Amino acid sequence: MNRRLRLVLILSIFVVLTFHLFAQAQEILPVKLKSISGNIYEILEGRGARGGAYIGRNGVLVIDSKMDKKSVDETIEGIRKLTDKPIKYLINTHSDWDHIEGNRYFPETVAFIAHENCRKEFFAPRRDGTPSDWSRPDLMPFLPAITFKEQMNLYIGPQKVELWYFGVGHTTGDAVVYFREDKIAFIGDQAFLERPQLIHSYKSGNSFEHVKTLKRMLDTLDAEKFCSGHSEIADRKTIAKHIAQMEERQQKVKLLIQGNKTLAETKNAFPENEGLLIETIYKEIKKPN
Ligand SMILES: [Zn+2]
Repeated sequence: MNRRLRLVLILSIFVVLTFHLFAQAQEILPVKLKSISGNIYEILEGRGARGGAYIGRNGVLVIDSKMDKKSVDETIEGIRKLTDKPIKYLINTHSDWDHIEGNRYFPETVAFIAHENCRKEFFAPRRDGTPSDWSRPDLMPFLPAITFKEQMNLYIGPQKVELWYFGVGHTTGDAVVYFREDKIAFIGDQAFLERPQLIHSYKSGNSFEHVKTLKRMLDTLDAEKFCSGHSEIADRKTIAKHIAQMEERQQKVKLLIQGNKTLAETKNAFPENEGLLIETIYKEIKKPN
């Protein structure tokens, strides 16, 4: 084999292997429901964020809706393996794609619930400026039909399911779904624990408000398990640490700004993967009131 042919062969093998590894990394596993406590489940895998399900005496409540038909079909199939009770409610914890797109693949008979601001954000353009398609008349049945401002309760049997709003943070309409008897809270994307927190400034999210909002949540709810859209279940200590880390970053950015550091210099003082968050904090501090 001549050298050129050998090189082509090696390169081809490299390309195939890289592609294979990439495909594996992208592989989407089928949706599965995992019990956290009694009839409260986390909805894992599929396309979209982690969600939740609660099987009440009179029906089923789902938290967040994944983002494609296959994942929704698998979610419904998973619920059907556990119960034949109807899916009565679906709560969107906030307006990000990976939590709401699947609404349209659920039956029209489901009542969709969200915070008032979350419903408004359904119609807002996406981060890249793409317009939302939620104004389409055929999608109207899948929009939140019931909204709340501060707090509301749902009874799907004897157990009360509490919906709370603690303020602006990740977006302006993040809801917490709380199961008081089990001390389990579903908090959507209000605490990224394995990667830097996303704060959607383009939806008027705010990192300083995020800190206050999470403190209010910890003060108000005696939750012990916090289920979030992109992290493993966390305890109170982990959420408190998340808040403290955010405050430390904010403090450091403040000091760097006082030292007349530019945005680029400020970002360089932090790990590379925190760039987006640091930019958000920097702009929040710089923004004239
Ligand atoms: Zn998410």
